[in-house]
Order: sequence, then structure tokens, then C-alpha cells
Amino acid sequence: MDPSTPTAIPDQPDNGSSEAVPFRSGFVALIGRPNVGKSTLLNQLVGQKVAITSPVAQTTRNRLRAILTTPAAQLILLDTPGIHKPHHLLGERLVQSARGAIGEVDVVLLLVDASQPAGRGDGFIVDLLRHSRVPVHVALNKSDRVGADAEDLAATYREMLAAADDRPVSWPLHPCSALNGDGCQALVEALAADLPPGPLLYPADTVSDQPEQLLLAELIREQVLTLTREEVPHSVAVRIERIVEDEGNVKGKERTAVLATVLVERSSQKGILIGKGGQMLKAIGQGARLQMQKVFDGPVYLELFVKVVPNWRSHPGRLAELGYRGD
Ligand code: GDP
Ligand code: MG
Repeated sequence: MDPSTPTAIPDQPDNGSSEAVPFRSGFVALIGRPNVGKSTLLNQLVGQKVAITSPVAQTTRNRLRAILTTPAAQLILLDTPGIHKPHHLLGERLVQSARGAIGEVDVVLLLVDASQPAGRGDGFIVDLLRHSRVPVHVALNKSDRVGADAEDLAATYREMLAAADDRPVSWPLHPCSALNGDGCQALVEALAADLPPGPLLYPADTVSDQPEQLLLAELIREQVLTLTREEVPHSVAVRIERIVEDEGNVKGKERTAVLATVLVERSSQKGILIGKGGQMLKAIGQGARLQMQKVFDGPVYLELFVKVVPNWRSHPGRLAELGYRGD
């Protein structure tokens, strides 16, 4: 995998016409309540897994950039942690990170779960965005879960946007399904049309700017979230200690060895993660290893350790070390 850094490429794709519409490029922030499908949409749009998703809220901790290049535009999509009320230091950093993203982009995409009527959580975010200087689009996600009531549900969102004394808005609504891809192409075209003219900012085949280590750590954390009970997930962090490439050969392909530590806050959580006779840790390792083999396109050897670090979530230094910046 290429740990790609932004490189300005002077040549733009040639679309064969001298009166061509200009190529467009820029940043799109995905904003929305936890669990509305931001990470799923990101993966759907770039056509491969770059963000981890889960039925558990607050999965996404870091701001992730995914890059989508079409013949007409390049969209740099920022996945943000869901906006919610902060409970402790980590929670505050998550919210800061999401709010920070709003100020730095060309277009905001507000995602809502349109299989449910508009609620107060969405209203809170809409009010944050009302005075946005950049265009806002609304993705009515989870369209695969609505039937005849689709129009009624959409109307609740339209009313929410219009209902404000100080600043009613009428942002475009796009029904879509991040899960099966319905409506996603039209959504991308609408977002692209609102980007400024500009060159490719990343090579056209780049899908993510996330460092490899972070992606690998996230793949392990995803297995923890999927396989363990609710009391563990939010106090887990993963640190990749070492990646050794060309670690021997398996059937003609070079093997990659990954050593990682799972940090938890309490020894009871360590017990859950390791499981009876080590079964849980083994299952986590196997699941993560299968995903990593897709990333490396070759065999992976994964060794996992579990370590108790009391209160890691409340220590600014430890948060920074794990990549959670309060910017
Ligand atoms: P995030 O917190 O906004 O990033 O949400 P995720 O992308 O992690 O998704 C939360 C849950 O909603 C997961 O279980 C997804 O599979 C599910 N989900 C996301 N998009 C859709 C969709 O379009 N349709 C359906 N049915 N489920 C979805
Ligand atoms: Mg997410």
C-alpha cells in the first residue's frame, strides 16, 4: 500500500474537448449523528474499505480522508466522528474534530438516517451548519429501509431545514443507500458540481491518505468492537508495534508480520479480550488477519498482546501518542 502524500499533479485528465467543463477538486466533510452511515458511505463511494463501521455508535475516532476520483472531479472526503454531547476528554476531542472539519472544506455533506423521521440530534447539527459559508447537501441515507413512507420521512427533514426563525435553509436532499449504492452516483455528481475548479490533488488511483499503521490498528479495533461485549469497546486502543515485510515466504508470496498491542483500561477488560483459554483473542486476531491480507494482498502473520493502561482516555499525552489530536 502506498502511504500517499498529497502531490500536485499539473496535468489534468484530458476529456477531449477544448470547451470542456473545468475539472473540479476539493474537500467534502461528512457530518452527522453517530450511526447514520458516514463510514459506510465513504467505503461505498471509494469502492473499498477505508473506514471501519459497526453497529456500535462512535466507531470512528480519527478524521479520515478518502479520495474519490471521477472523470469530472476529485473529491477528498473527510469522515468525522459523529457529533454528540461530550462526556469525557475523548468525547470532547471527537466533537472538536468534527466541528473543525466544517470550517476547512468546500462542501458539507450532512448525513441523516432517513429511515427515521428527523429528530433533535439532527436538529442540533443543522443549527451548527445554518450559517455555513459553504454549500451544504443532505444525504437521506438508508433508503433501502424505507418503503411507501419515503416521501413523508423526507418531508420531516425538509421541514426541519425550513423551520428556523433566524435562518431557514433549503439544502438539496439526496435519497441514497450507503449499503447498496442506490443514489450514490447522483449524490457524487451533485457534490462535485459544488466544488471549485481545480487540479488533481492526489494521484487518480489513491483512495486513502491514512497511514498504513493506523488502518491496521483500526482493523484490529473493528474486530474488538464486533466480537466483544459493550463494556469493552470504548476503552480500547490499538498500537501497532512493528510491521516486518518479507518475513519469509508462503507459497511464493512474501509474508508480512504485524505485532500489535491492544490497550484497555481495566484488567477485567483484559480478561474479556483474552477470553476463555485465549479463544476471544484468537478470534479477534483471525478476523483482523483476514482483513489485513486483503490490504497487503498476501499472507499476514499477526501477533496480538493485551495491556492494561488505566485511564488512557483521560491523558492528553496518551491520546496524542495514539493519534487523537485535538485540532
Ligand atoms: P457512522 O457512525 O455514521 O460512521 O455509521 P456507520 O457507517 O458505522 O454505520 C452504522 C450502521 O448503519 C452499520 O451497522 C451500517 O451497516 C448501517 N448502515 C449504514 N448505511 C446504511 C444503509 O444505507 N442502509 C442500511 N440498511 N444500513 C446502513
Ligand atoms: Mg463512522
